[in-house]
Amino acid sequence: MKNNCTNSPLGKLGEFGLIEQIKTRVSADARVKLGIGDDCAATTIPADKLLLTTKDLLLENIHFRLDWTDMHSLGRKSAAVNLSDIAAMGGTATQLYLGVGLPADITLESVEQFVSGFLAETGAAGATLCGGDTCRSGGQLIISVTAQGSVAAQHMVTRSGANYGDNVYVSGAIGDSALALSQLLAGKNPTRYISERHHLPTPRLQLGQLLAQRGLATAMIDVSDGLFSDLGHILTQSHCGAVLTEAHIPHSDAVKNHLQHAPQDRQLVLHGGEDYELLFTANKQHSAAIAELSNELNLPLTCIGNIDARDDGFRMINLAGEKITVTTTGFNHFS
Ligand code: ADP
Ligand code: MG
Repeated sequence: MKNNCTNSPLGKLGEFGLIEQIKTRVSADARVKLGIGDDCAATTIPADKLLLTTKDLLLENIHFRLDWTDMHSLGRKSAAVNLSDIAAMGGTATQLYLGVGLPADITLESVEQFVSGFLAETGAAGATLCGGDTCRSGGQLIISVTAQGSVAAQHMVTRSGANYGDNVYVSGAIGDSALALSQLLAGKNPTRYISERHHLPTPRLQLGQLLAQRGLATAMIDVSDGLFSDLGHILTQSHCGAVLTEAHIPHSDAVKNHLQHAPQDRQLVLHGGEDYELLFTANKQHSAAIAELSNELNLPLTCIGNIDARDDGFRMINLAGEKITVTTTGFNHFS
């Protein structure tokens, strides 16, 4: 595209120098017939697989603040949040595309660190950066990533497959990221553990793939908006309801300790987003297989409730043992 992209902020290197530099850092990949450098990338996909495609924007001061993150972490997170969507379908990540709108005063060093982080996360997932777009932005840093992956049609797990009687599971721990964010917003320094859970989320690719390939999950989503909100998406799209047991929702020691001193933050950790864990439903007959998978991956997979027939959201047995109705208000950009 011809526009003001060529007025590069990066001094002598310029837009095309930067793209060339990125290109030299990308390793060969047999699936990529044509990568960075032409008008389009050309990639192959096995004939028996479906192509998965997802995009996430990361906007400065909406999704990240440059005084809270280093550029390498931001690069990793930009790839990770997209890879997490591929994980949630049970897919294998294959290609990523990186669009950036760079502020005029950004340094080459910052961009290099960002790209290093992006490539490290992409490489760890076995995927390849195949293209993108580079422009100058009007002021803030804009990141737009597209990720592609593949999955056998019979293995793909959508949001709409939950059935009456299924158990509801979540991987890892819930609330670390929200706790880190709330502390950053309050001007405090989060501990290293919760800070990394916020700035360097782990896409649960292997978990997603194994759940899918073993036929263990009926519906799946990654927890990006918040546990309740994302469960709400599964329930709406599967036309069912659920009952959760609050005491079963898994938290890290960091969150548990925090809640002991600040019980008023319980809603924050339950509704907060960006855990990038996988939330999935599974037939009760698979309980043992899921426990085995949890051992295999050394990753907690916790049953937090079950799907019931009612098509009207969900209820939770709270810590006092009362059954309450939960409203699924996760993060909404326009609310
Ligand atoms: P066009 O003008 O046809 O859009 P560009 O000059 O924008 O082409 O891009 C040239 C090549 O560099 C393309 O292969 C494009 O995908 C790639 N590219 C541009 N920006 C990036 C980036 N930030 N990361 C990776 N590849 C990029
Ligand atoms: Mg372009």
